[in-house]
Amino acid sequence: MEQNSIRGLCDLHTHTNFSPDAKSAPEEMCERAIELGLAKYAITDHCDVNFWERAEGDGVRDFDMYGSGKYAPASIAAQTALKEKYAGRLDLLCGIELGQPLQNIEKAEQIMADKRLDFIIGSHHQNAGQDDFYWIEYDKLDSYEISALLEDYFTQMYEMCRRGGFDVLGHLTYPLRYICGEYGIQIDLRRFDDIIAEIFRTLIGGGMGIEINTSGLRQKYGRALPDLGFVKLYRELGGEIITLGSDAHCSADLGKGIAQGAEIARQAGFRYTAYFKARRAEFIKL
Ligand SMILES: [Zn+2]
Ligand SMILES: [Zn+2]
Repeated sequence: MEQNSIRGLCDLHTHTNFSPDAKSAPEEMCERAIELGLAKYAITDHCDVNFWERAEGDGVRDFDMYGSGKYAPASIAAQTALKEKYAGRLDLLCGIELGQPLQNIEKAEQIMADKRLDFIIGSHHQNAGQDDFYWIEYDKLDSYEISALLEDYFTQMYEMCRRGGFDVLGHLTYPLRYICGEYGIQIDLRRFDDIIAEIFRTLIGGGMGIEINTSGLRQKYGRALPDLGFVKLYRELGGEIITLGSDAHCSADLGKGIAQGAEIARQAGFRYTAYFKARRAEFIKL
């Protein structure tokens, strides 16, 4: 039973109804985290800084996420109160998923400087001036165009990692959730091995880590983001900081895939999983 097997582990990537695309109240998520026996639990609501304010006519379609940056301070305030409320029952870590920091540096830096935060995931959901990978119709693109999108994805992510200011890189290989999972298009990422290795070296040098995002395991893609191969590469390059996150957008998904994620980490040679408190990495035995 997964419910028992994740006891003592962490789920450090989850969304509450402070995220425009998530359903459950923070209290409901916390109650579920207690039920699952998680050692540490983080709420990481969306803060897509490129959508801080509703923007008209910028050609980007991700209407659902407009304003998602603006909700982040409210999520942080609610989490800060909940840390008190659940003290002694749940080790709640105050987190945020900072999306596209380079696309609104002023707001990103405002969030990065927030002392209430324990943990920041840095995520890249969309290339500058383009739609979120979620929205792109890959069946209307040829393999060259898909390849160009991925080239931009890794290049912009590399720049994001060079700038830093977050704790772990969110869901590396996120576009595959849609390209491979939803559209069934096979992608060979070997041509990006060099830049991915460079991304890992940059993270390691900057004291940052990666997450194993287990959402892909319960979706059509059927694999973790990233999968074992890249987790191994990260380890081989000297990576020590790895976190586990379900990317749950409702309480029913909390903790899902965390046991498999822990197994991927073990197979890659990790003996410890990380969590962040007051923006500092701490470790729990796997
Ligand atoms: Zn994300
Ligand atoms: Zn997320």
